[in-house]
Amino acid sequence: MELVERSPEYIRAIAPYQPGKPISELAREMGLDEGSIVKLASNENPLGLSPAAKAAIEHALSDLARYPDGNAFELKAALSRHYGVSPECLVIGNGSNDLLELAAGAFLIPGSTAVYSRHAFAVYPLATQARGAKGIVVPAINYCHDLNGIYSAIGNDTRIVFIANPNNPTGTYLSGADIEAFLGKVPSNVAVVLDEAYNEYLPHELRTDSVRWLKTHRNLIITRTFSKAYGLAGLRVGFGIMGPAVADLLNRLRQPFNVNSLALAAATAALADQEFVARSYELNRSGMAQLEAGFRGLGLQWIPSYGNFISFEVPRKNGASHAGVVYGKLLKQGVIVRPVAGYEMPDHLRVTIGTTDENNRFLVALAVAMAE
Ligand SMILES: *Cc1c(COP(=O)(O)O)cnc(C)c1O
Repeated sequence: MELVERSPEYIRAIAPYQPGKPISELAREMGLDEGSIVKLASNENPLGLSPAAKAAIEHALSDLARYPDGNAFELKAALSRHYGVSPECLVIGNGSNDLLELAAGAFLIPGSTAVYSRHAFAVYPLATQARGAKGIVVPAINYCHDLNGIYSAIGNDTRIVFIANPNNPTGTYLSGADIEAFLGKVPSNVAVVLDEAYNEYLPHELRTDSVRWLKTHRNLIITRTFSKAYGLAGLRVGFGIMGPAVADLLNRLRQPFNVNSLALAAATAALADQEFVARSYELNRSGMAQLEAGFRGLGLQWIPSYGNFISFEVPRKNGASHAGVVYGKLLKQGVIVRPVAGYEMPDHLRVTIGTTDENNRFLVALAVAMAE
Protein backbone atom coordinates (compact mmCIF):
# COMPACT_ATOMS: atom_id res chain seq x y z
CA MET A 1 0.00 0.00 0.00
CA GLU A 2 1.32 3.45 -0.91
CA LEU A 3 1.98 5.82 1.98
CA VAL A 4 -0.73 8.30 0.97
CA GLU A 5 -3.24 5.45 0.80
CA ARG A 6 -2.57 4.74 4.47
CA SER A 7 -3.90 8.21 5.29
CA PRO A 8 -7.51 7.82 6.46
CA GLU A 9 -10.08 8.16 3.71
CA TYR A 10 -11.65 11.12 5.54
CA ILE A 11 -8.33 13.01 5.37
CA ARG A 12 -7.85 12.30 1.68
CA ALA A 13 -11.40 13.48 1.00
CA ILE A 14 -10.80 16.97 2.44
CA ALA A 15 -11.44 19.63 -0.20
CA PRO A 16 -8.78 22.39 0.05
CA TYR A 17 -9.98 25.72 1.49
CA GLN A 18 -10.40 28.33 -1.26
CA PRO A 19 -8.89 31.61 -0.05
CA GLY A 20 -9.46 35.02 -1.62
CA LYS A 21 -7.10 35.57 -4.57
CA PRO A 22 -3.92 37.32 -3.38
CA ILE A 23 -3.08 40.71 -4.94
CA SER A 24 0.35 39.46 -6.07
CA GLU A 25 -1.23 36.52 -7.91
CA LEU A 26 -3.69 38.67 -9.85
CA ALA A 27 -0.90 41.13 -10.69
CA ARG A 28 1.18 38.27 -12.15
CA GLU A 29 -1.74 36.73 -14.04
CA MET A 30 -3.05 39.94 -15.61
CA GLY A 31 0.17 41.91 -15.86
CA LEU A 32 -1.32 44.57 -13.56
CA ASP A 33 0.48 46.88 -11.17
CA GLU A 34 -0.11 45.64 -7.59
CA GLY A 35 -0.88 49.19 -6.47
CA SER A 36 -3.77 49.41 -8.93
CA ILE A 37 -5.52 46.31 -7.55
CA VAL A 38 -8.39 46.53 -5.07
CA LYS A 39 -8.79 43.40 -2.94
CA LEU A 40 -12.18 43.10 -1.28
CA ALA A 41 -12.09 39.34 -0.95
CA SER A 42 -11.08 38.32 2.57
CA ASN A 43 -12.89 40.64 4.98
CA GLU A 44 -9.66 42.39 5.89
CA ASN A 45 -9.62 45.81 7.56
CA PRO A 46 -9.26 48.54 4.90
CA LEU A 47 -7.65 50.82 7.51
CA GLY A 48 -4.80 48.36 7.99
CA LEU A 49 -3.74 48.02 11.62
CA SER A 50 -3.64 50.32 14.62
CA PRO A 51 -0.48 52.49 14.78
CA ALA A 52 -0.10 51.28 18.37
CA ALA A 53 -0.02 47.66 17.20
CA LYS A 54 2.55 48.57 14.55
CA ALA A 55 4.77 50.21 17.14
CA ALA A 56 4.46 47.14 19.38
CA ILE A 57 5.56 44.90 16.51
CA GLU A 58 8.58 47.09 15.82
CA HIS A 59 9.50 46.97 19.49
CA ALA A 60 9.12 43.16 19.63
CA LEU A 61 11.34 42.63 16.56
CA SER A 62 14.54 42.80 18.59
CA ASP A 63 13.51 39.75 20.62
CA LEU A 64 12.68 37.37 17.78
CA ALA A 65 15.52 34.97 18.60
CA ARG A 66 13.57 33.99 21.71
CA TYR A 67 10.53 31.74 21.87
CA PRO A 68 7.25 33.53 22.45
CA ASP A 69 5.55 33.41 25.86
CA GLY A 70 3.67 30.13 25.42
CA ASN A 71 1.22 31.16 28.14
CA ALA A 72 0.59 34.58 26.59
CA PHE A 73 0.67 36.19 30.04
CA GLU A 74 0.33 39.82 28.93
CA LEU A 75 -2.30 39.29 26.26
CA LYS A 76 -4.34 37.13 28.65
CA ALA A 77 -4.06 39.77 31.38
CA ALA A 78 -5.30 42.43 28.94
CA LEU A 79 -8.16 40.24 27.66
CA SER A 80 -9.01 39.26 31.21
CA ARG A 81 -9.48 42.95 32.14
CA HIS A 82 -11.31 43.76 28.91
CA TYR A 83 -13.86 40.94 29.21
CA GLY A 84 -14.02 40.56 32.98
CA VAL A 85 -13.02 36.89 32.96
CA SER A 86 -10.19 35.12 34.71
CA PRO A 87 -7.12 34.20 32.62
CA GLU A 88 -7.95 30.51 33.20
CA CYS A 89 -10.95 31.00 30.92
CA LEU A 90 -8.81 32.06 27.95
CA VAL A 91 -7.15 30.11 25.14
CA ILE A 92 -5.05 32.06 22.64
CA GLY A 93 -4.92 30.72 19.10
CA ASN A 94 -3.09 31.07 15.81
CA GLY A 95 -6.09 32.93 14.43
CA SER A 96 -9.51 31.99 15.78
CA ASN A 97 -9.34 29.23 13.17
CA ASP A 98 -6.98 27.52 15.60
CA LEU A 99 -9.70 27.63 18.28
CA LEU A 100 -12.23 26.04 15.93
CA GLU A 101 -9.71 23.26 15.19
CA LEU A 102 -8.86 22.82 18.86
CA ALA A 103 -12.52 22.54 19.83
CA ALA A 104 -13.06 19.94 17.10
CA GLY A 105 -9.90 18.09 18.17
CA ALA A 106 -10.89 18.06 21.82
CA PHE A 107 -14.33 16.53 21.31
CA LEU A 108 -14.82 14.91 17.93
CA ILE A 109 -13.86 11.30 17.17
CA PRO A 110 -14.59 9.17 14.10
CA GLY A 111 -18.27 8.34 14.08
CA SER A 112 -19.32 11.35 16.13
CA THR A 113 -21.19 14.30 14.62
CA ALA A 114 -20.94 18.08 14.51
CA VAL A 115 -23.97 20.21 13.68
CA TYR A 116 -23.84 23.49 11.75
CA SER A 117 -25.93 25.52 9.33
CA ARG A 118 -25.97 25.45 5.57
CA HIS A 119 -23.98 28.45 4.19
CA ALA A 120 -21.95 28.57 7.43
CA PHE A 121 -18.23 29.33 7.65
CA ALA A 122 -16.14 26.81 5.67
CA VAL A 123 -13.84 25.91 8.54
CA TYR A 124 -16.61 24.05 10.45
CA PRO A 125 -16.89 21.23 7.88
CA LEU A 126 -13.10 21.19 7.45
CA ALA A 127 -12.39 20.82 11.17
CA THR A 128 -15.13 18.19 11.47
CA GLN A 129 -13.90 16.13 8.56
CA ALA A 130 -10.29 16.24 9.75
CA ARG A 131 -11.40 14.25 12.84
CA GLY A 132 -13.27 11.64 10.83
CA ALA A 133 -16.50 12.98 12.29
CA LYS A 134 -19.64 13.61 10.30
CA GLY A 135 -21.11 17.05 9.69
CA ILE A 136 -24.87 17.45 9.95
CA VAL A 137 -25.83 20.42 7.79
CA VAL A 138 -29.07 22.11 8.82
CA PRO A 139 -31.03 24.04 6.15
CA ALA A 140 -30.97 27.82 6.62
CA ILE A 141 -34.00 30.12 6.64
CA ASN A 142 -33.46 33.10 4.33
CA TYR A 143 -29.71 32.34 4.57
CA CYS A 144 -29.93 32.65 8.39
CA HIS A 145 -29.07 29.88 10.88
CA ASP A 146 -32.25 28.05 11.98
CA LEU A 147 -31.60 27.51 15.69
CA ASN A 148 -34.67 25.30 16.12
CA GLY A 149 -33.54 23.14 13.21
CA ILE A 150 -30.02 23.00 14.62
CA TYR A 151 -31.38 21.96 18.01
CA SER A 152 -33.50 19.21 16.42
CA ALA A 153 -30.45 17.89 14.54
CA ILE A 154 -28.51 17.26 17.75
CA GLY A 155 -28.31 13.51 18.32
CA ASN A 156 -26.65 11.11 20.76
CA ASP A 157 -23.44 11.19 18.71
CA THR A 158 -23.31 15.00 18.52
CA ARG A 159 -20.40 16.52 20.40
CA ILE A 160 -20.17 20.00 18.87
CA VAL A 161 -22.47 22.62 17.43
CA PHE A 162 -20.93 25.50 15.49
CA ILE A 163 -22.82 28.81 15.38
CA ALA A 164 -21.45 31.90 13.60
CA ASN A 165 -22.88 35.24 14.71
CA PRO A 166 -22.76 37.17 12.44
CA ASN A 167 -22.20 34.41 9.90
CA ASN A 168 -19.78 34.57 6.98
CA PRO A 169 -20.50 34.64 4.01
CA THR A 170 -24.19 35.44 4.55
CA GLY A 171 -23.71 38.29 7.05
CA THR A 172 -26.82 37.14 8.92
CA TYR A 173 -27.30 37.78 12.63
CA LEU A 174 -28.99 36.00 15.55
CA SER A 175 -30.32 37.93 18.53
CA GLY A 176 -28.91 37.40 22.00
CA ALA A 177 -32.32 36.27 23.22
CA ASP A 178 -32.49 33.54 20.56
CA ILE A 179 -29.00 32.27 21.33
CA GLU A 180 -29.68 32.31 25.05
CA ALA A 181 -32.87 30.29 24.57
CA PHE A 182 -30.93 27.85 22.37
CA LEU A 183 -28.20 27.44 24.99
CA GLY A 184 -30.87 26.71 27.56
CA LYS A 185 -32.03 23.68 25.56
CA VAL A 186 -28.78 22.13 24.27
CA PRO A 187 -27.55 19.21 26.42
CA SER A 188 -24.70 20.32 28.66
CA ASN A 189 -22.41 17.60 27.29
CA VAL A 190 -22.53 19.06 23.76
CA ALA A 191 -20.05 21.87 23.08
CA VAL A 192 -21.54 25.02 21.55
CA VAL A 193 -18.90 27.00 19.67
CA LEU A 194 -20.14 30.56 19.25
CA ASP A 195 -17.95 32.17 16.59
CA GLU A 196 -18.11 35.95 17.02
CA ALA A 197 -15.41 36.96 14.53
CA TYR A 198 -17.47 39.97 13.38
CA ASN A 199 -18.80 41.07 16.76
CA GLU A 200 -17.00 44.43 16.65
CA TYR A 201 -18.96 45.36 13.51
CA LEU A 202 -22.36 44.97 15.17
CA PRO A 203 -24.21 48.16 16.06
CA HIS A 204 -23.98 48.61 19.83
CA GLU A 205 -27.67 47.97 20.43
CA LEU A 206 -27.36 44.53 18.81
CA ARG A 207 -24.36 43.37 20.80
CA THR A 208 -24.95 40.89 23.59
CA ASP A 209 -22.65 40.20 26.49
CA SER A 210 -22.22 36.56 25.49
CA VAL A 211 -19.49 36.12 28.11
CA ARG A 212 -22.07 36.20 30.91
CA TRP A 213 -23.64 32.99 29.53
CA LEU A 214 -20.45 31.17 30.53
CA LYS A 215 -21.55 31.35 34.16
CA THR A 216 -24.48 29.04 33.49
CA HIS A 217 -23.32 27.21 30.34
CA ARG A 218 -20.04 25.37 30.85
CA ASN A 219 -20.35 23.84 27.37
CA LEU A 220 -20.07 27.25 25.66
CA ILE A 221 -16.92 28.22 23.76
CA ILE A 222 -16.86 31.80 22.48
CA THR A 223 -14.31 32.57 19.78
CA ARG A 224 -13.06 36.01 18.78
CA THR A 225 -10.36 37.23 16.42
CA PHE A 226 -7.84 40.00 15.88
CA SER A 227 -8.05 39.40 12.11
CA LYS A 228 -11.06 41.56 11.30
CA ALA A 229 -11.83 44.84 13.12
CA TYR A 230 -8.37 44.80 14.77
CA GLY A 231 -6.65 44.52 11.37
CA LEU A 232 -4.12 41.79 12.23
CA ALA A 233 -5.15 39.04 9.75
CA GLY A 234 -1.59 38.46 8.55
CA LEU A 235 -0.25 37.82 12.04
CA ARG A 236 -2.77 35.07 12.92
CA VAL A 237 -4.10 35.66 16.40
CA GLY A 238 -7.48 34.95 17.94
CA PHE A 239 -8.80 33.68 21.25
CA GLY A 240 -11.48 31.65 22.93
CA ILE A 241 -13.36 32.41 26.14
CA MET A 242 -14.83 29.38 27.93
CA GLY A 243 -15.15 27.66 31.26
CA PRO A 244 -11.81 26.84 32.93
CA ALA A 245 -12.20 23.05 32.52
CA VAL A 246 -12.69 23.31 28.75
CA ALA A 247 -9.92 25.93 28.48
CA ASP A 248 -7.58 23.55 30.28
CA LEU A 249 -8.35 20.82 27.72
CA LEU A 250 -7.77 23.09 24.74
CA ASN A 251 -4.58 24.48 26.24
CA ARG A 252 -3.18 20.95 26.52
CA LEU A 253 -4.07 20.20 22.93
CA ARG A 254 -2.62 23.34 21.35
CA GLN A 255 1.00 23.62 20.25
CA PRO A 256 3.11 24.99 23.12
CA PHE A 257 4.09 28.06 21.04
CA ASN A 258 1.09 28.33 18.75
CA VAL A 259 1.08 32.14 18.63
CA ASN A 260 4.21 34.02 17.63
CA SER A 261 5.68 36.89 19.63
CA LEU A 262 4.89 39.62 17.09
CA ALA A 263 1.27 38.55 17.10
CA LEU A 264 1.12 38.51 20.91
CA ALA A 265 2.65 41.99 21.18
CA ALA A 266 0.47 43.41 18.41
CA ALA A 267 -2.74 41.94 19.79
CA THR A 268 -2.07 43.32 23.28
CA ALA A 269 -1.50 46.81 21.85
CA ALA A 270 -4.44 46.52 19.44
CA LEU A 271 -6.82 45.62 22.25
CA ALA A 272 -5.81 48.78 24.08
CA ASP A 273 -6.50 50.94 21.02
CA GLN A 274 -10.29 50.85 21.04
CA GLU A 275 -10.33 54.20 19.25
CA PHE A 276 -8.98 52.38 16.17
CA VAL A 277 -11.71 49.74 16.48
CA ALA A 278 -14.32 52.50 16.71
CA ARG A 279 -12.94 54.13 13.55
CA SER A 280 -13.03 50.76 11.76
CA TYR A 281 -16.65 50.35 12.85
CA GLU A 282 -17.64 53.82 11.58
CA LEU A 283 -15.91 53.34 8.23
CA ASN A 284 -17.71 50.02 7.87
CA ARG A 285 -21.11 51.59 8.58
CA SER A 286 -20.67 54.28 5.95
CA GLY A 287 -19.16 51.80 3.46
CA MET A 288 -22.11 49.47 3.99
CA ALA A 289 -24.54 52.31 3.15
CA GLN A 290 -22.43 53.22 0.12
CA LEU A 291 -22.45 49.67 -1.26
CA GLU A 292 -26.17 49.20 -0.57
CA ALA A 293 -26.93 52.42 -2.46
CA GLY A 294 -24.71 51.18 -5.30
CA PHE A 295 -26.50 47.83 -5.47
CA ARG A 296 -29.87 49.58 -5.40
CA GLY A 297 -28.74 51.78 -8.31
CA LEU A 298 -27.76 48.69 -10.29
CA GLY A 299 -31.02 46.93 -9.45
CA LEU A 300 -29.23 44.15 -7.55
CA GLN A 301 -30.44 42.21 -4.51
CA TRP A 302 -28.23 41.54 -1.50
CA ILE A 303 -28.45 39.75 1.82
CA PRO A 304 -28.60 42.41 4.57
CA SER A 305 -25.29 42.05 6.40
CA TYR A 306 -24.12 42.63 9.95
CA GLY A 307 -20.44 42.03 9.14
CA ASN A 308 -17.79 43.90 7.14
CA PHE A 309 -18.88 42.34 3.85
CA ILE A 310 -22.02 41.89 1.74
CA SER A 311 -23.12 38.96 -0.41
CA PHE A 312 -25.02 40.25 -3.42
CA GLU A 313 -26.93 38.35 -6.06
CA VAL A 314 -25.92 38.28 -9.71
CA PRO A 315 -29.02 37.69 -11.87
CA ARG A 316 -28.89 34.47 -13.87
CA LYS A 317 -28.37 34.62 -17.64
CA ASN A 318 -30.44 32.23 -19.79
CA GLY A 319 -31.15 30.22 -16.66
CA ALA A 320 -27.46 29.75 -15.86
CA SER A 321 -25.44 31.17 -12.97
CA HIS A 322 -23.64 34.33 -14.05
CA ALA A 323 -21.72 35.13 -10.85
CA GLY A 324 -18.53 33.41 -12.02
CA VAL A 325 -18.53 35.49 -15.22
CA VAL A 326 -18.97 38.75 -13.30
CA TYR A 327 -16.20 37.68 -10.89
CA GLY A 328 -13.88 37.22 -13.90
CA LYS A 329 -14.86 40.59 -15.37
CA LEU A 330 -14.11 42.28 -12.05
CA LEU A 331 -10.70 40.57 -11.93
CA LYS A 332 -9.89 41.94 -15.40
CA GLN A 333 -10.50 45.41 -13.98
CA GLY A 334 -8.24 44.74 -11.03
CA VAL A 335 -11.00 44.19 -8.46
CA ILE A 336 -10.94 40.98 -6.40
CA VAL A 337 -14.16 39.82 -4.69
CA ARG A 338 -15.06 36.35 -3.44
CA PRO A 339 -17.09 33.71 -5.26
CA VAL A 340 -19.23 31.76 -2.78
CA ALA A 341 -20.40 28.84 -4.95
CA GLY A 342 -18.54 26.58 -2.50
CA TYR A 343 -21.04 27.75 0.16
CA GLU A 344 -23.94 26.59 -2.01
CA MET A 345 -24.53 30.20 -3.09
CA PRO A 346 -23.75 29.94 -6.82
CA ASP A 347 -25.58 33.16 -7.71
CA HIS A 348 -23.89 35.36 -5.11
CA LEU A 349 -20.56 37.14 -4.84
CA ARG A 350 -19.22 38.40 -1.51
CA VAL A 351 -17.56 41.78 -1.36
CA THR A 352 -15.68 43.12 1.64
CA ILE A 353 -16.45 46.71 2.61
CA GLY A 354 -13.38 48.79 1.82
CA THR A 355 -12.45 52.46 2.01
CA THR A 356 -14.76 54.93 0.27
CA ASP A 357 -12.40 54.96 -2.74
CA GLU A 358 -12.15 51.17 -2.90
CA ASN A 359 -15.94 50.83 -2.69
CA ASN A 360 -16.24 53.32 -5.57
CA ARG A 361 -13.71 51.42 -7.67
CA PHE A 362 -15.68 48.24 -7.04
CA LEU A 363 -19.06 49.80 -7.89
CA VAL A 364 -17.75 51.33 -11.14
CA ALA A 365 -16.16 48.01 -12.14
CA LEU A 366 -19.35 46.14 -11.21
CA ALA A 367 -21.46 48.45 -13.39
CA VAL A 368 -19.09 47.73 -16.30
CA ALA A 369 -19.15 43.98 -15.62
CA MET A 370 -22.97 43.91 -15.45
CA ALA A 371 -23.42 46.01 -18.61
CA GLU A 372 -21.23 43.83 -20.83
C1 LIG B 1 -12.63 35.46 9.34
C2 LIG B 1 -13.41 34.52 10.17
C3 LIG B 1 -12.83 33.93 11.28
C4 LIG B 1 -11.49 34.36 11.77
O1 LIG B 1 -10.44 33.72 11.21
P1 LIG B 1 -9.01 33.93 11.86
O2 LIG B 1 -8.46 32.54 11.90
O3 LIG B 1 -9.19 34.48 13.23
O4 LIG B 1 -8.29 34.84 10.94
C5 LIG B 1 -13.60 33.10 12.08
N1 LIG B 1 -14.87 32.86 11.79
C6 LIG B 1 -15.47 33.42 10.74
C7 LIG B 1 -16.91 33.18 10.51
C8 LIG B 1 -14.74 34.24 9.88
O5 LIG B 1 -15.32 34.78 8.81
